[in-house]
Amino acid sequence: MINLADRAVGISPSPTLSIDAKAKKMIAEGKNVVNFGVGEPDFDTPNHIKQVAIEAIEKGMTKYTPVAGTEALKNAIVNKLKNDNELEYQPAQIVVSAGAKHSLYNAFQVLCQEGDEVILLAPYWVSYMEQIKLTGAVPVVIQTKAVNGFKVTPQELTEKITDRTKLIIINSPSNPTGGVYSGEELAALGQILVKHGIAIISDEIYEKLVYDEVKHISIASLSKELKDLTVVINGVSKAYAMTGWRIGYAAAPQKIAKAMADLQSHSTSNPTSIAQAASVAALEGTQKPLWEMLEEFAKRRNYMLERLSSIPGLSCTKPGGAFYLFPDISSFIGLEYKGQKIEGAKDLADLLLDVAHVAVVPGVAFGDDNYLRLSYATSMERIVEGMDRIQNLLAEIK
Ligand code: PMP
Ligand code: GLU
Repeated sequence: MINLADRAVGISPSPTLSIDAKAKKMIAEGKNVVNFGVGEPDFDTPNHIKQVAIEAIEKGMTKYTPVAGTEALKNAIVNKLKNDNELEYQPAQIVVSAGAKHSLYNAFQVLCQEGDEVILLAPYWVSYMEQIKLTGAVPVVIQTKAVNGFKVTPQELTEKITDRTKLIIINSPSNPTGGVYSGEELAALGQILVKHGIAIISDEIYEKLVYDEVKHISIASLSKELKDLTVVINGVSKAYAMTGWRIGYAAAPQKIAKAMADLQSHSTSNPTSIAQAASVAALEGTQKPLWEMLEEFAKRRNYMLERLSSIPGLSCTKPGGAFYLFPDISSFIGLEYKGQKIEGAKDLADLLLDVAHVAVVPGVAFGDDNYLRLSYATSMERIVEGMDRIQNLLAEIK
């Protein structure tokens, strides 16, 4: 039997995608599963975007494009960054990839190596940990606190910086907590990062999904020094319900962007030509479907938060963005369901799926096993049903 490379042995599959696959398999078997697992908008891709893709096929836009993306898409991204984020980039500083996950992978690969330390703020999105490890760098985890809205404080950050610290990943709005950093908070962190010359990957994939008065700010927009240290990551998956189209992008100092494009030229080459054409329409066309989706997400968030908060033993901070709730379930740990002991969030998530047929992601996937992540990217009707089931099951835990 051929041995796998060490690199492959160490990789664990994406837990969010695994739970989604399990839930979908149960649904295919005829089980009535409520899926709060995966973070994927339940809305369809808006029609005007689909039409542009159909036209792209008909016009023969079915060939290789430049590796880092078409001029039309790069220009649309440059304009978007300018208008939405007050960021000025040249098209040569933009690299379009097969999803933001791919953009992140490229960024970690060209920036990090053995001997480097990368600061990872927990709770963190599942793929950061594996992508950091794949470079040979060491993830240095900072456990953020619910009382701080799961945001790192300048002091917590300073304590973990060493002369090996190469990079920090900031994800605002955050998956899984929904935490959103204010401009002041980013400026305070930015001062420390500039002082130590630490690179920043700023994952802004949920930037459009912010609620109430919350505003998304890109750390790169705060100063020239910060922009020079930052790789901004974004994409069309979440804002335009385009998860399957696989288009993400990075904006970075030219040297970094060129390295990312060169790396990509030996792996996937360009992202799909048709999806690129559709993404131009997403960025440049009407934003009305996005506003409608956002309005619906806001209603669901409020409802789900109210339901969760009414369950004895659960507490949940109000997220400013994304489409997740992240309740603290620690008071259930050590208790039993019909003689079955709950050792951690993983056991509770398994019970919820197996007994109540509700898919959720245990916090352990995000580096904190006292929590569950519930995605509200599913219809209000299913949310009502799912919350009833969760409430009933938790009432049986003694
Ligand atoms: N970053 C975060 C925080 C995410 O939740 C996701 C979800 N898939 C991604 C990046 C990747 O998005 P995609 O590859 O679909 O563009
Ligand atoms: N980002 C989504 C989530 O966290 C999609 C799944 C994934 O890409 O891992 O559920």
